Amino acid sequence: MRAYKFRLYPSKQQEVEMLKHLWLAKSLWNELLGHSKKFYDDFGFFPSKDALQLMVKDYGLYSQAQQEVAHRVYNSVVRIFRLRKKGLKCGFPRFKSLDRMKSLYYPQFGFRLESELEVTPFGRISIRKHREIEGRIKTLVLKRESSGKWFAIFTVEENYRNSRKNVGGVVGVDLGLKAFAVLSNGVEVSNPRHLKKREEELALVQRRLSRRKKGSKNRRKAKLRVARVHEKVSNARSDFLHKLSKQLVCVYSVVALEKLSSKRMSEQNFGKQINDAGWNAFANMLCYKAEEAGSKVVFVNPENTTKTCSNCNSIQSMPLQERTYKCRACGLTINRDVNAARNILAKAASQLVCSEFEQNTVRIKATAGTAESNASREETTVSSMKEDATRFIGW
Ligand SMILES: [Zn+2]
Repeated sequence: MRAYKFRLYPSKQQEVEMLKHLWLAKSLWNELLGHSKKFYDDFGFFPSKDALQLMVKDYGLYSQAQQEVAHRVYNSVVRIFRLRKKGLKCGFPRFKSLDRMKSLYYPQFGFRLESELEVTPFGRISIRKHREIEGRIKTLVLKRESSGKWFAIFTVEENYRNSRKNVGGVVGVDLGLKAFAVLSNGVEVSNPRHLKKREEELALVQRRLSRRKKGSKNRRKAKLRVARVHEKVSNARSDFLHKLSKQLVCVYSVVALEKLSSKRMSEQNFGKQINDAGWNAFANMLCYKAEEAGSKVVFVNPENTTKTCSNCNSIQSMPLQERTYKCRACGLTINRDVNAARNILAKAASQLVCSEFEQNTVRIKATAGTAESNASREETTVSSMKEDATRFIGW
C-alpha cells in the first residue's frame, strides 16, 4: 500500500458543502462516542460495531463516509479498552471540535478519478495530479489542513508482481538437522554463533532452575532468569530467520521447500533441533517477503527427498547417520543434504511447470469464444512457460 496526496481546488459552493459534511462527521463522531461511553457505564461493555453502524443510518453524510465514522469510533474505543486491560493508562478517545475533524473517508466507493476528481455528493472537483498513480486505488480521504487547503489522499495497492520482476535463479532448500539449511547449490547455512551461545546459556539456566527447591525464593529468581534468556534466544532466532529469508527471496526468483510433515517430526524426535515453530515462522517469513521481492515460494511433498538420487532418480534407503549419499546405480557421491535440496528443487520445477500448464488450459477453456484476445493470451503464457523451463535447465 502506498499513499498519494494531491491538492484539491473545490469551488466556493463545493467547499461550503464539504465543510458542512465535516461538521456532520464531527457531530456523528461525538454522538457515537458519547453513546459508547454511556452504554459502557450502564452495561459494562461497549456496543458492537453492528449496533453503531445501525445508528448512523440517514445521518446526511455519504453512506460509506458515515459507516467509516462508526467504524473508527468502534476501533478507537476497542483499542483503548485493550490497552487498559493490559494495565496501561490511557485517556478515552476525544470528543472533537470542528478543528479536530479534518477528514472525510471513502473506504471503497463514491469517487472516481479522471482529469478531475468526482466525489459523491460534491460532484467534480478540480485536482492537481503532480504524478501518475501506479496500481489500484483502494481508498480516498478528503482532508482539510489547518491552513484551509484541501487535499485528496489515495491509498493505492501496488502490484509487486508486475512492478518488480525477480530475475534471480532458482534454489532448493533442505532444512536440516545438522546445519539450519542446506541449499541445492551446496551452500550450507549454519545457525549463527550468537544463537548457539544463547541456547547453551538457556540450557545452563534451565539446569539450575531444576535444582532449586519448589516454592523457594531462589527458584522464583531462577525462573525469571530462564524467562529472560528464553526471550533472548527467541529474539536471536527470529532475527536470524528474518535475515536469511530476506536474503533468499532477494537472490532467488524461486525458493523451494518441503512441506512440514510427520516424517520430519519423527526425524526430529530422533535427535536434534529443528523445531516446528522455527520452521513455520521461517516458511511464513519467506512467503510474505517473496511477494514483496517478486519471487515465488514453492512447497513440495517431502516423500523420498532424502532417498532419491538427484542424478539418476533411483531410490535407496538412507539411514539418518549416513552423511553422504552414494548412489548404487550411477555412482554419484554427494552430501546427503545437498542431494535432498536438489531433489526438492527438481520437484518444485515440475510442480511449477505443471501448474502453469493447468492454468493455461483453464484460461483457454474460460475464454473460448473470444478468439482474438485468446490467441495473444496463449502466446504470453506459453512464452512464460518457456522462460521458466530454460531457467530450470540453466540450473
Ligand atoms: Zn544415481
